[in-house]
Formats: sequence, structure tokens, C-alpha cells
Amino acid sequence: MLDRLRQSLALRLAVPYALVFALGAAALFGVLYYLLGNALEQRDQTAIEQRAQTLADGYEFGGPALLRTRLENDTSPDAKSFFVRLINPDGTAGFLIYPQDWIETEVQQLPIPGYALKRQIVRFPQNDIRDYTIAQLGLADGRLLQVGRLTESRSALLAPLRRGFVSVGAAALVLSAGIGLLLAWRATRPLRQLADTVRRILDTGDLGARVPPSAGRDELATLARQLNTLLDKNTAHVRVLRETLDNLAHDLRTPLTRLRGTAELALHDTGDPADVRGALADCVNESDRVLHLLETLLDVSAAEAGALKLNRDRLDLRSVVERAVDLYREVAEERQTTVTVDQPEPVELDADAIRLGQAVNNLLDNALKYTPPGGKVTIATRREGGTILLTVTDTGPGISDHEKEAIFRRLYRSDSSRSQRGLGLGLSLVKAMVEAHGGTVIATDAPGGGARFIVRLPAP
Ligand code: ADP
Repeated sequence: MLDRLRQSLALRLAVPYALVFALGAAALFGVLYYLLGNALEQRDQTAIEQRAQTLADGYEFGGPALLRTRLENDTSPDAKSFFVRLINPDGTAGFLIYPQDWIETEVQQLPIPGYALKRQIVRFPQNDIRDYTIAQLGLADGRLLQVGRLTESRSALLAPLRRGFVSVGAAALVLSAGIGLLLAWRATRPLRQLADTVRRILDTGDLGARVPPSAGRDELATLARQLNTLLDKNTAHVRVLRETLDNLAHDLRTPLTRLRGTAELALHDTGDPADVRGALADCVNESDRVLHLLETLLDVSAAEAGALKLNRDRLDLRSVVERAVDLYREVAEERQTTVTVDQPEPVELDADAIRLGQAVNNLLDNALKYTPPGGKVTIATRREGGTILLTVTDTGPGISDHEKEAIFRRLYRSDSSRSQRGLGLGLSLVKAMVEAHGGTVIATDAPGGGARFIVRLPAP
């Protein structure tokens, strides 16, 4: 599990997001730290500048004497915290008072800024936690007035903020990484199920494995559903392929066994040439059956792959139907089945007479084959707008709903028709030929029971 987590997409998603979150939070903190530091420093500086201005005004009004009196008479507790110094034009320090917590030597060492700047405020550290902040104003008599105070340094002011950020930030980072990982792990669960299913199919060959269904509508749930549908379709294809192979093997085996039996019999024969000739004729017949099966299969494959060449000519569908009826006249008589042709008007189309004839022959062949003796088969042609209709209706057993599509598959034979001759290729050939002509064919129920095949072809 841990190993899986380490290599998982969830971790690869959660870690960068946690890092992005940490970077974002740090950037935000940086900006906040800077702005807050500035605002706090500004507050200190404004108080000092105001004080400097008041004292400068007093000086301008009454000279150093008034300045001194004012300072001495100022009893506010705040007053004692200010440092005040006058700098003579020659750069020497003049009048000075400094608060008790200022050390004299330090005061002596305070830099005397240049005269170019008549109004400025400077800040330099006393130690780690405090700064000297000194405002300097140029006076009318050329002297400079410096007023200063010890202020908390930026790092001391913002220390609680830093501590808070580090502890809250670390907790938030751990929490966000943890929650992010959990959410990503949950969100990628369908992907793991998908991978598990595919692995199961690859490892065990179990085509029945499916991704557990989920009610979600997101991309992964959709992907899982689509994979299941794909697997269903593939399983169905594989099943059809197996059935087709089984049927083909079965259908080839019967004529080949008969062929072999006849040939063997001829070899052991008494030597009468007539018997040998008869056996050879049987062999030819059986070979023809095999050849016919293989040719039909190839035709269906070619038509389905779109590789069937059609020799189209303008023709009347009625003539194709009539030829088919002629061809099966004897069979119909043998089976005592009446074939009715209902063709009231010419139905012209561009088609390959031989290929279309194969389709009509097969439909008629089936109708006669599956209709019990004494039944009725009707072939009708019509033109309906842009479509040409050909229907073959019989009074046989009909086709159950669940087989109406399957009967068009190659080599499909319904269980009930196993007793009849046939290879299960007739209807797939019909479908392939009709579709090669741009048409469709469906099986429906005839009004009085029985089956009805409807072929629709595009009219020219
Ligand atoms: P085959 O006739 O050789 O079995 P087809 O492809 O022609 O193969 O037909 C497939 C299946 O469709 C048949 O096995 C049969 O069950 C069914 N079928 C075809 N035509 C009819 C029909 N007219 N009436 C009832 N069932 C039919």
C-alpha cells in the first residue's frame, strides 16, 4: 500500500499542490510583513517628526532660550523619551538633551548628517531590538535641529507575526498536504480500479472482468463506463468469432467427411467403372459445396470490407425477381408452396444484376425452406418516393424478436433450423449485397405470422 502510494498519481498531484500552497502563503506573508513593518515604522516616524516640527517652530519664534524653556517645562511622560540636539553650521554639536536610557558615549557617536538634506529622517540600529530614529530639520539660522527616540526595530516589532506564521504555516502545510493527498487518492480510485481490471484481464484472460460501476458523472466515471462498454463489445465480438469458427469447422467437416467416405468407397470398389464414376460425381458435388461455402464467405467479407466490385446497369427489379421465381419453381412445387408475385409497376434501378440476384435468390430460398408444405410465399416490389422496396413474406414459423438481428450474422443458424440444410451464410450474403448497393434489409413479422424480409434500395 505504501509502495503504491509512493508511486501513485495522487502523491504526484498532492505534493506539487502543497508546494504551490506553501509558496503562495509565503509570498502573501512576505507582502504582509513588508507592508505591516512599513506601517509600524511610519507610525513611530510621524510622532517624531511632529515633535521635531513643534520644537523647530518654538526655536524659530524664541531662539534656543525658548526651546530650552519649552523642553524643561514639558511635563508629559512622553517628553522624557526624546533626544534633542542642535548642530551648528560648522558641524559641531550644540545644545543637547538626551533621555536617561541613552548612553552619553553613544549620543556623542551619533552621526551628524550633511547639511544638504534640510529635512530627513534616519533610522539605524542600537541593538537587535531597538533602533535610533532621528528626524532632522534645517532651521532659519543655518543650524540643524535633530529630534530622536528609540523605537522598536522592525524585526522586534514583527517577531510575533513571524512566530505565528511559522507555527500556523507549518500546521497548514501538513494539513493541506494530508487532505490534498486524501482527496487525490480518492479521486484517482476509478483509475486504480481501471488498472486492476485491465491487469486481471491480462493476467487471467478473464474477459468477464469489469470496472466496478459508479454513479458519478465525472471524466473518470465516464471513462470506466466506456471501458466496460468496450469490453462488452469485445467479448461479444470474440464470442461471435468463436461461434463462427466452430460453425465453419462444423460446416466444412460434414462435406469433407462425406467426400473422404465416398473416395474411400470408390477405392475399395469391385472395379465397375460406373460405380467409380458415380463416386467421382459425388466427390465433385461435395467439393462444390465446400467451394460454394468458401466463395460465399469471401464474397461476404469482400462486400463488408467495401472491396466488392459491382457491375451496375440500369435494370428493372421485376426481372430479377422473375428470374429467381423461375429458378425456384421446381422447389416450390416440390414443397407444395405457392409463390405469388406482386409487381404492379416497373421499378428501375442501377444495380449489379448478378449480385442483387444472389440476394433475392437467398431470400426466396429461405422462405421456401422454412415454410412448411402447403404454405404461401409472396414477393412484392414497389417504389415509394426515393426508395425501392422489395418484400419477401412467408407463412412459416417466423423469427423470434431476439433473433431478428442475429440471423444476419455470418454462419448464424437458429437452433430450430439445424434440421434444415444450410450454412448460415444466406442472410449475411443478402445483407452484404444489399448494403453494397447502398440499401438496408430487416426481418419483421408478417401480418398473419411468418416472416417478412424488407429490402430498401435507393431509387436512381
Ligand atoms: P441458413 O438458412 O443456411 O441457416 P441463413 O443465413 O439464410 O442461413 O439464415 C439464418 C437463420 O435465419 C436460419 O438458420 C433461420 O433460423 C433463420 N431464417 C432465415 N430465413 C427465415 C425464414 N424465412 N423464416 C424463418 N426463419 C428464417
